[in-house]
Amino acid sequence: MTTVSHPQSGQPTPRSTPPARLDLRAATSGGIFEYAPAPESVRPEIAEQYGLFINGSFVDPAGGKRFATINPATEQTLSMVAEASPSDVDAAVKAARDALPAWSALPAKERGKYLYRIARRLQERARELAVLETLDGGKPIKESRDVDIPLAAAHFFYHAGWADKLHYATPGRTPRPVGVCGQIIPWNFPLLMASWKIAPALACGNTVVLKPAETTSLTALRLAEICAEVGLPRGVVNIVTGAGTTGSAIVNHPGIDKIAFTGSTPVGRKIAEAVAPTNKKLTLELGGKSANIIFEDASLDQAIEGIIEGIYFNQGHVCCAGSRLFVQESILDRVISKLGDRMASLRVGDPMDKNTDVGAINSKEQLSTINSFLEAGDREGAVRHDVCRSDLPASGYWCKPCFYTGVQPSHTIAREEIFGPVLAVMSFRTPDEAISRANNSPYGLAAGVWTDKGSKIFDVAKHLDAGIVWLNTYNKFDPTSPFGGFKESGFGREGGRHGLTAYLNTD
Ligand code: NAD
Repeated sequence: MTTVSHPQSGQPTPRSTPPARLDLRAATSGGIFEYAPAPESVRPEIAEQYGLFINGSFVDPAGGKRFATINPATEQTLSMVAEASPSDVDAAVKAARDALPAWSALPAKERGKYLYRIARRLQERARELAVLETLDGGKPIKESRDVDIPLAAAHFFYHAGWADKLHYATPGRTPRPVGVCGQIIPWNFPLLMASWKIAPALACGNTVVLKPAETTSLTALRLAEICAEVGLPRGVVNIVTGAGTTGSAIVNHPGIDKIAFTGSTPVGRKIAEAVAPTNKKLTLELGGKSANIIFEDASLDQAIEGIIEGIYFNQGHVCCAGSRLFVQESILDRVISKLGDRMASLRVGDPMDKNTDVGAINSKEQLSTINSFLEAGDREGAVRHDVCRSDLPASGYWCKPCFYTGVQPSHTIAREEIFGPVLAVMSFRTPDEAISRANNSPYGLAAGVWTDKGSKIFDVAKHLDAGIVWLNTYNKFDPTSPFGGFKESGFGREGGRHGLTAYLNTD
């Protein structure tokens, strides 16, 4: 393994000294940027155990099985969560089916009112939800507070507005609900993914059975409480917790009309096979290996922030993470030097500290996956830059953010989704080369383009195989904007007018 460390980490660096400017590494180690701890003080109530939310009430799982949900920053058990068996899934689907006629026949503006109420309750309970998300998932509190929860509420507000305007979404056609929707979500944005799924389904007059990921069930269960609080009719939203077998029971249930899945490409493939011989509608939001392309005329300091935001946000547990960085050859050394400086100031550690930039890895399994990619990167000859200086807590699952140079397109770390804080840096000479290298991936979820030239922005963007292209920014999300991929990143869109069509029949 070849490792390049930067000066403040105590080892020599072969790179030239950066031009005179404020040395962030020296500043942070010298004390002028030292932060006092700023721990979040709210501790929401967490029950010792949770049931399944079926037909408007929490019920015990039929098989009586529960599993622990833990805080990945401390490895301590937060609660015991119910494991839904096929018979529980059956009960949830029946509840959703029974609720469907009345819910879909409700005047649309009345449906919209329920969505507004849920959105407002999410806002009112925002702090509690943010803390819960951070405790259960390991993401920094500033991200759950400023991104996850506000966006979750925004999705309900946005879709509340659509409920009585659906005919504008399908001009010339009569929109009808699809029916009972089975929705399966991952652990990286638990409440936000639940909101992405539930809000449009309900606005369009469908009922749902949703399964959160097994490591992050708690905020979905709080959302179930909120549905009950706002008086949502029984059975319209059902939340069943469990792992892959519970998800599979939803996918294979004959009473389901549509499957909406967000998760990994291998599981998406299995679901596509299971659904293919049926009449179920399907949308798949899968993995990615997105390209962030920096041209020599880009505003470099801004681009460096975009690189950081692109790959280290949420510990890199982001489907559209800018995990492949393509830098124009003429500025490669400057970008690497600036990136090293900036990363030295990233604070990794206690997710409940409001100053933390990078929190805990979501699970032991995910940490071991990331470590196996780091081993592959080292073994295959890329150069790892370990520039982060934070001391890591003694317990919990941690991975310091790092980046690799000397990466070949054939390297594992350049091809496969790592879903962790690991960046592969590569270079290009011309716009055409940038496009062909960016498109050289089985995935097609997102991309970023950084340049001062408007014409280059539009020319490059239109040639990229990516469902989302950010221009001079990265990882910006909005409920009005459709999100989804091409190729092995899946099909179907969530958000915006396009996202509604996945929940409507129009023929
Ligand atoms: P995963 O595929 O392992 O699990 C996702 C969900 O599917 C979980 O709830 C899991 O319990 C369930 N599941 C597992 N096996 C199943 C089966 N056989 N049948 C039905 N359900 C099953 O993915 P993950 O590790 O939870 O999430 C990470 C992945 O999700 C990454 O690949 C990431 O890129 C992707 N993701 C995509 C988007 C997007 O919008 N494209 C958004 C977030 C995450």
